[in-house]
Amino acid sequence: MSADLALATQNLKRRGFLDLDVDPTLDLAAEINRLKKERNAVILAHYYQESEIQDIADYIGDSLGLSQQAASTDADIIVFAGVHFMAETAKMLSPQKKVLLPDLKAGCSLADSCPAPVFAKFKEKYPDHVVVSYINCTAELKTLTDICCTSTNARHIIDSIPEDQPIIFAPDVNLGRWLVKETGRDMVLWNGSCMVHEIFSHEKVTKLKIAHPKAAFIAHPECEAHILDMADHVGSTSSLLRFTRESEYQEFIVATEPGILHQMELASPDKTFYPAPPNNTCACNECPHMKRNTMEKLYLCMKYEQPEIILPEWVIEKGVKSIDRMLEISARAGL
Ligand code: SF4
Repeated sequence: MSADLALATQNLKRRGFLDLDVDPTLDLAAEINRLKKERNAVILAHYYQESEIQDIADYIGDSLGLSQQAASTDADIIVFAGVHFMAETAKMLSPQKKVLLPDLKAGCSLADSCPAPVFAKFKEKYPDHVVVSYINCTAELKTLTDICCTSTNARHIIDSIPEDQPIIFAPDVNLGRWLVKETGRDMVLWNGSCMVHEIFSHEKVTKLKIAHPKAAFIAHPECEAHILDMADHVGSTSSLLRFTRESEYQEFIVATEPGILHQMELASPDKTFYPAPPNNTCACNECPHMKRNTMEKLYLCMKYEQPEIILPEWVIEKGVKSIDRMLEISARAGL
């Protein structure tokens, strides 16, 4: 091991990634493809990743699709181009495989808004409740969860629970409120939220709608209720992508992380997409956690097979049950 690599490995925990220089003349896409074959690795990428990472991935999808892929892949190594809780989910579903994340500090404000020890105390107040957690939560929170859900299958998961069974929904209060409205179930909600989806500006979206009167306004259910109330279609990233492909509309105002626009433009090159504006002075609403992953970090993590996701065995054994239940219900619903 070179001195530089030894130092980068030593600093991995503090930096989150292998802080090594990458030759700027290197064809990173070609190198990553070579490493993929050499290591029998698969790259799973979330829709919110940079477009160049999406273009090199073996599978691009939302949380449900990514978990299904992680559960079924026969690769030896799963390289997760996404955030920490997603890589943890992959590790829980495929504990015998090596799971790599290009930057361990690619976290999630929503997952962080529900620390497991605090939630455990909260849960004690509702001993007869079933806990449904959005998959955007830590591995430890999954050990306190009965059934996970994603925005694609959340409604099916809630509907699968007997009507007289009370439910706690965590951690996203906006998705929870939307589900209460959609399903008519009165759930106890944990008050967490996503920093990207809670900053859309009602006023700026209204102005954009006036400027583009023929555009459909589509939104992810992690957005606040006042934004969802304005939407022509509400759904998961996969559902939003499908809507733009299949609907007659030619223009769309999109209220979710703008990384998804890359797949929308590829699927419908003749249609026009406008990212919904945030209510701050910054012009973009990109997820800073998702965007910590770069082609350089992806290349380095595949070359040196670190940083790796390591979880205690008890967390995997206990937490995976909530994900397995979700996958079973999703499969029964044909999702
Ligand atoms: S967009 Fe929101 S929910 Fe998704 S990873 Fe970023 S902070 Fe978490």
